Amino acid sequence: MNAYDSELISWMLSEKHYTPTEDAATADVAVFNTCCVRDNADQKVYGAVGHFKTHKENNPDQVLVISGCLAQKDGEEFVQRFPQVDVVVGTHNLADIPELVERVQLGEGPFVKVEKKGTHFHLPSSPASKFKGMVTISMGCDQWCTFCIVPYVRGQLRSRPLPLVISEVKRLAREGHREILLLGQNVNDYGRDLEEEVDFSHLLDGLNGIDGLDRIRFTSPHPAYYTQSVIDSMAKNPAVCNHIHLPLQSGDDEVLKRMRRLYTKAEFIDLARRMREALPGLSITTDIIVGYPGETEEQFQETLDVVRQVRFTSAFMFAYSPRPGTPGALFKDQVPEKEKMDRLYRLIEVQNDISYEDNQKLLGQEFEVLIEGRSKKHIHRCSGRTRCHRLVHFDVDLDKNYEGRLAKVKLEKGFTWGFLGKMVDVEPHYKAWSAVKQTV
Ligand code: SF4
Repeated sequence: MNAYDSELISWMLSEKHYTPTEDAATADVAVFNTCCVRDNADQKVYGAVGHFKTHKENNPDQVLVISGCLAQKDGEEFVQRFPQVDVVVGTHNLADIPELVERVQLGEGPFVKVEKKGTHFHLPSSPASKFKGMVTISMGCDQWCTFCIVPYVRGQLRSRPLPLVISEVKRLAREGHREILLLGQNVNDYGRDLEEEVDFSHLLDGLNGIDGLDRIRFTSPHPAYYTQSVIDSMAKNPAVCNHIHLPLQSGDDEVLKRMRRLYTKAEFIDLARRMREALPGLSITTDIIVGYPGETEEQFQETLDVVRQVRFTSAFMFAYSPRPGTPGALFKDQVPEKEKMDRLYRLIEVQNDISYEDNQKLLGQEFEVLIEGRSKKHIHRCSGRTRCHRLVHFDVDLDKNYEGRLAKVKLEKGFTWGFLGKMVDVEPHYKAWSAVKQTV
């Protein structure tokens, strides 16, 4: 979602004739689009904003903007702590950035705008990539998991009307975006707040058969909202990729209850099984938090048990970091840091072994890969993702542009992170779908 917001900010500023620069020190406008989902993301932003004091001394006309979740959470604190900050804009008010920048340039400010209402998520998307696009379908979340700060900084669920989302995806597909990532904080809770009776399965059905749209992905879903109709719609729509992100968080029923996650260990395992049955070759990735307040060694073992049973392709694994203002931060029985880190390292070891072992089983097989670009280190090498979201590197000719093309790649060497492969076939060239249509 933050990556999408960054694209949006970049697009809004480009409409005002700004161009991107690599040089932060001399930029006319610098924007920190922030995340506060984890504590170290917070700390990184504060450290980085501190460095801009020197930039501002050398370049006094520079306008420094802080946007996103941390801006929403800490608001005024930014301008109080950092006199170099000119604009603070929360998650609901991103659309105001260009106007506020202009007003600072006219001598006004500093501004802090962290209202709870805004319209920017209705703005059309303008992806940075020519072949991959992100489309926000909803924002906010009503789930209130006890560890999560998202409902506090992104607000409650607001879904975009179904026809609007479908027409936006069609437009992006016409412009050549062959892969679309649907975004929402709780993406498969889509539609519950709309007047029309729609849910996420209706949206997937509505996106079936769009010309030029090869791949549909979505993030982040909640296991409790994977109804059978959503699974059926995924299986029916050939563009929906055979990869799902299924955040486990914990494998212990008691911990899941404390997290307010709405599913049990047995239900999660059963869901993974049903999804694998419905979607051949499905790869499942996950998020796991270890050391949630009150988690015992036995409860941690339950998490390891789910990891071993479900065999995730990969996982984002974290030691719990309390987010101020959430119920989890107030629970008395916080797990000592040393214990959390010990559990985290043990979990990573188990997951890495599974990723490595399962990747070996795919060697020799050919997969469709959407080529994302060349490696900066090895320019003869491209990388891309399979439909099941596995990362593959492979060698290509030096003098051709492969970006955005679909290739057939044979997997030759497996690692924990992905594969080295050999390209056996590739589309002759990449063209925007609209251009292809005109020439047919
Ligand atoms: S469903 Fe996801 S976004 Fe919503 S509160 Fe829970 S973890 Fe946060």
